[in-house]
Amino acid sequence: MTAAYTLGSLIYEGKAKRVFQTDRPELVAVEFKDDATAFNALKKAQLAGKGELNCQISARLFELLEREGVPTHYLGLQGRSWQVVKPVSIVPVEVVIRNVAAGSLCKQMPIAAGTPLEPPLLDLYYKDDAYGDPLLTDARLARLGLLTADQRAELERLAFRVNAVLRAFFAAIGLQLVDFKIELGFTAAGELVVADEISPDTCRLWDLQVADASDRILDKDRFRQDLGGVVEAYGEVLKRVQGACPEPRIYG
Ligand code: ADP
Ligand code: MG
Repeated sequence: MTAAYTLGSLIYEGKAKRVFQTDRPELVAVEFKDDATAFNALKKAQLAGKGELNCQISARLFELLEREGVPTHYLGLQGRSWQVVKPVSIVPVEVVIRNVAAGSLCKQMPIAAGTPLEPPLLDLYYKDDAYGDPLLTDARLARLGLLTADQRAELERLAFRVNAVLRAFFAAIGLQLVDFKIELGFTAAGELVVADEISPDTCRLWDLQVADASDRILDKDRFRQDLGGVVEAYGEVLKRVQGACPEPRIYG
């Protein structure tokens, strides 16, 4: 089969992925790497197989969102650890939704890990490693001038939709969606879409069938907390996601 595009030069290499230009301006190719980083890249490792697992999980979750009417950048898979996506202008705001208290929230506020948060809590962080991705206030977000009021409302609406869809989906496969981070961006047509990735690197997922507070963790906290079995945990997530989703489409 002839490829629908030709791979061009590397546009950006991040901590977990490489983004490549193609000969078609409406397409970029994303390669998922095996690199694992945490704590703003203070902690680093190579985890063989992680890139492919995240790519495969992410593809299925993007297609799920699309079926549920949430626009995403995703166009199709290309090989085990590559995706073809729409190029977007990423909004440098990390949108975090928390259904259960965990992680930085519990370090910054007197809320015990595991406390259910109803309604879910939405936090915005300024995406810039040089500043350590700080929590944004409304006033700081306005001062940065990154989004109009309408765009911000749309970003939050989409994030809550993503939460509703993913939370129900994961619950049906025995996983609790504790929290997650998404990135959104504007397409060439000016549409705000969910971009980047949705994977155990960007979601906290707890196995509902396991009571032990460490053993139930199936996400990047296994790496952050040196719990071991990181790739095995991501593999378990893919196994369950695969069992509940159609095979993702191949681009081209
Ligand atoms: P980071 O180290 O910033 O987390 P990643 O390795 O996770 O980077 O991803 C690479 C970069 O690609 C990120 O800056 C991310 O915002 C960006 N990105 C994700 N999706 C798209 C897209 N559709 N178009 C352009 N850039 C994107
Ligand atoms: Mg990233």
